[in-house]
Amino acid sequence: MATVSIPVNTCALLLDIEGTTTPITFVKDILFPYIKEHLEDYLSAHWEEDECKQDVHLLKKQIEEDMKQNRSCPVHTVDQTVHTDEEKAIREVVDNVLWQMAADRKSTALKQLQGHMWRAAYTSGKIKGQVYEDVIPAIRRWRASGLKVYIYSSGSVEAQKLLFEYSVEGDVLDLFDGHFDTNIGAKVDSKSYKNIAERIGCGPNEITFLTDVTREAKAAEDAGVNVVVVVRPGNMELTNEERDHYNLITTFNQLEVSG
Ligand SMILES: [Mg+2]
Repeated sequence: MATVSIPVNTCALLLDIEGTTTPITFVKDILFPYIKEHLEDYLSAHWEEDECKQDVHLLKKQIEEDMKQNRSCPVHTVDQTVHTDEEKAIREVVDNVLWQMAADRKSTALKQLQGHMWRAAYTSGKIKGQVYEDVIPAIRRWRASGLKVYIYSSGSVEAQKLLFEYSVEGDVLDLFDGHFDTNIGAKVDSKSYKNIAERIGCGPNEITFLTDVTREAKAAEDAGVNVVVVVRPGNMELTNEERDHYNLITTFNQLEVSG
């Protein structure tokens, strides 16, 4: 198995989640379907609670904003199985959320409700955060050799923390020195990696970024960050050119701390 050496001046590893620490299918086949399947029950169970009321309020504001801007909205059909006002209101929220998810909307309102539903699912043990089996042992080794380890994912920091706190390997949240999401900037924007370097407190060339997505790898590289592309089952195929250009690993075991 070919190994890739982490440059000797490295102070921090920056890890992507989906396709890097975690199968892409976890998000696509477990997290998102969970929302669709449990949305109505969740709303019915928590409808009277403040947090849920705030989530619904934010969604309603989003709908009003969409209508003002003449964005398309879900079409409501008359549903004979719904009787009370509460049932009707819940059904409207369900329709809107499902519509937003189908349209791949990234609204704050949608993300907030999803985050709360996932938190309930994780804490009750209905969902466990998936990580490849080579991930946690490797992170422990890297940390033992003095490296810091950070996460950078387009999932919210809260969602990232849930995944690692309630993971198949138990609570491994304390293995990370910090978390970044798209609040620091988009993953395909080179500026984001400079911002992260600043926040971590080391130079871009002292960071090694692990990702499966070559557009992100390119952005990091442009910022001066050292990059390793992770090839996992189900990840997007690389072109021959990309295979030649990047250091590739199929497991974290291949990444060695030099010296
Ligand atoms: Mg990824």
